[in-house]
Amino acid sequence: MSSIELSKRQEHILVIVEEFGPITGEQIAEKLNLSRAALRPDLAILTMSGLLGARPRVGYYRTGKTPSDVIAGVLGNIKVAQLQSQPIAVKNTCTVYDAIVTMFTEDVGTLIVVSENGYLEGVVSRKDMLKATLSGTNLNSLPVNVSMTRMPNIVVTYPNESILVAAQKLLSHQVDSLPVVNVLDVEGSEKYQVIGRFTKTNITRLFVQLVSK
Ligand code: ADP
Repeated sequence: MSSIELSKRQEHILVIVEEFGPITGEQIAEKLNLSRAALRPDLAILTMSGLLGARPRVGYYRTGKTPSDVIAGVLGNIKVAQLQSQPIAVKNTCTVYDAIVTMFTEDVGTLIVVSENGYLEGVVSRKDMLKATLSGTNLNSLPVNVSMTRMPNIVVTYPNESILVAAQKLLSHQVDSLPVVNVLDVEGSEKYQVIGRFTKTNITRLFVQLVSK
C-alpha cells in the first residue's frame, strides 16, 4: 500500500496545481476543458484528503503532502479503542473442554485466560486446543492453563495505541489477536486488566468502512 487510489483526472489536477498553483477552480476547469461544476467533486476529494489546500480569492495550491502521507495520517490517528471488540475470557480454572465449547458459542478463534481477579494470565488459540485434543488426555480434566501461552509472553496492546502499531504487532508476532489492557499497579506488582480484544477482523472491518462512507 503505497498510495491513495486517485482517478486519472484527479492526478491531472494535482499536476496542474503543482505547476500553476495557486490557481482558481475556474482556471483548472479551463485547462481540462470541463465546467467548474464537473470538477467540484474531484476538488473536494483532493482538499479533504489534504493533498490540496484552498484559499478564498487565491485558489488551490499543493500542500506538499503525498498520497501515502495522507493514508498514514488517517490510519495513524485511529486508536485501538475505536476498533476493538469485546474480550472473550475464561478463568484459568476452566477445562480445555469448556474452552473449546466457549470458542464455538462465542464464535472466536482466541480466548483470553484470566485469573480469579480478572487479570491477564494467558491466551489460547484454536491450534492450542487442537494440540491438547491430539494429546489424548481427557479434555474434561485438563485445565486450560496447561495449554495456554502465558504471561509474560503475551503480546498486548493499549486503548490509546495507534492501530498501525497494533497491526505491526499482529504481523511481527504472527498472531491473530491481541488483548487490549490497562496496566494497573496492584500492591507494587504490575497487572493487566483486560478491557478488549484487537484482531485482524477489526482491521478488515475498518478497510471496508473507509471506502463505504
Ligand atoms: P492459531 O494457533 O489458531 O493459528 P494464533 O496464530 O493467534 O492462532 O496463535 C499462534 C500461537 O500464538 C498460539 O500458541 C497462541 O497461544 C499464541 N498467541 C496467540 N495470541 C497471542 C498473543 N497476543 N501473544 C502471545 N502469544 C499469542
